[in-house]
Amino acid sequence: MIQTFQVRTSTQTEFIDITHSVQEAVEKTGVEEGICVIFIPHTTAAVTINENADPSVVQDIVMELNKMVPFKDQYHHMEGNSPAHIKASLVGCSEMVIVESGKLVLGTWQGIFFCEFDGPRNRKVHVKVISNDR
Ligand code: ZN
Repeated sequence: MIQTFQVRTSTQTEFIDITHSVQEAVEKTGVEEGICVIFIPHTTAAVTINENADPSVVQDIVMELNKMVPFKDQYHHMEGNSPAHIKASLVGCSEMVIVESGKLVLGTWQGIFFCEFDGPRNRKVHVKVISNDR
């Protein structure tokens, strides 16, 4: 069974900490030991794991992604959101986290971020927990 939750983004480029929502999704499955897959079913959004203690880390990631992939260039895609597609591919559409005793095993400073590159939009996050329970 797949757990799905919604994310409402409010700006064009935005990282939203979804760690708590992913943990809730894991708890709904009742799985104690396993692997949690977080999958983003969009072409202009992504997911990453990074520091959630100091918000300036995410701010710097966004700043550098915007330099690597400029908003204006000789893009061919008619929809006009090529930078968002490229950033989504660079960051990636899935993450995997170990589940132990029903909890996501993350480092002290790690959080799971939904990465919006073409907002504001209503987005979905899929969570699948592969159980290793006996
Ligand atoms: Zn497009």
